[in-house]
Amino acid sequence: MFIKKDLSVFSMNRENESVLKAESGDTVVFETLDCFSEMVKTENDLIGSIDWTRINPATGPLYVEGAEVGDALKVDIVKISLAPQGVTIAAPGVGAIGEYIEKEETFVFPIEGDKISYKGIDVKLNPMIGVIGTAPSEDSIPTGTPYSHGGNMDCKYIKEGVSLYLPVNVEGGLLSIGDLHAAMGDGEINGAGVEISGQVEVKVSVVKDFKYDLPIIETEDKIMMLSSLPTMEEASKDCVHKMAKLLMVKNDFSINEAGMFLSIAGDLRVCQIVDPNMTMRMEVKKEHFRDCNLEK
Ligand code: CA
Ligand code: CA
Repeated sequence: MFIKKDLSVFSMNRENESVLKAESGDTVVFETLDCFSEMVKTENDLIGSIDWTRINPATGPLYVEGAEVGDALKVDIVKISLAPQGVTIAAPGVGAIGEYIEKEETFVFPIEGDKISYKGIDVKLNPMIGVIGTAPSEDSIPTGTPYSHGGNMDCKYIKEGVSLYLPVNVEGGLLSIGDLHAAMGDGEINGAGVEISGQVEVKVSVVKDFKYDLPIIETEDKIMMLSSLPTMEEASKDCVHKMAKLLMVKNDFSINEAGMFLSIAGDLRVCQIVDPNMTMRMEVKKEHFRDCNLEK
């Protein structure tokens, strides 16, 4: 099953008509445009002169049969394939140091092998998904905004080999994916990773009556609880609290015990601080759970 990149949305909402229906357990390939809808191709293309109504397209949405409100949609990221080149930018007023930036600039990276090169310095590729989410229950949320439904979380661990659990707020879930990065550091400081088009192969499964807070990333060795809220402080407290609640169930901890355990063995980290909400993640190693099965 394949969804072409021209079937994309600029907001996630329950009114979006699905472009494909899948069964739980199916594998689907999403072809994706980069976050600039491929309007920035050369170093002469500056983001100040592109059509901002076409920023952050997300391919989809995909309707998953049997997904009902209260379930989770488990998205296994099977494979991420990248286009031959990506771009990054600097622009006045954009990103964490935008007030110090005086002129716009675009930098183009050819993608060859397993690394890119910036001014002679090699950086290992880390293909990841910036925008991935389901329809929120009520509001229409622009694809550039991360929130409890997922969206523009820009988390560098949403990559091959991990499972992302997202909420099902409307029947079918309505999953959309876009905004691949060939590489990105925690924080996404200038507001862009190595922005790139490509393809994402995912396996989608419905987990009935999901018991825990979302979104969650499960890697080979860690569980990560994500939160996206207006400030880093709010997002931090929220993902820490959500992880504490998970530990209270899985390890049979009291709130005091969960707090003490997170103090000694949990890692609070930044995903991004440049989007309309800030995204933080609380990480705990799987070996620190008495039971880390999220599906029961
Ligand atoms: Ca992004
Ligand atoms: Ca991006």
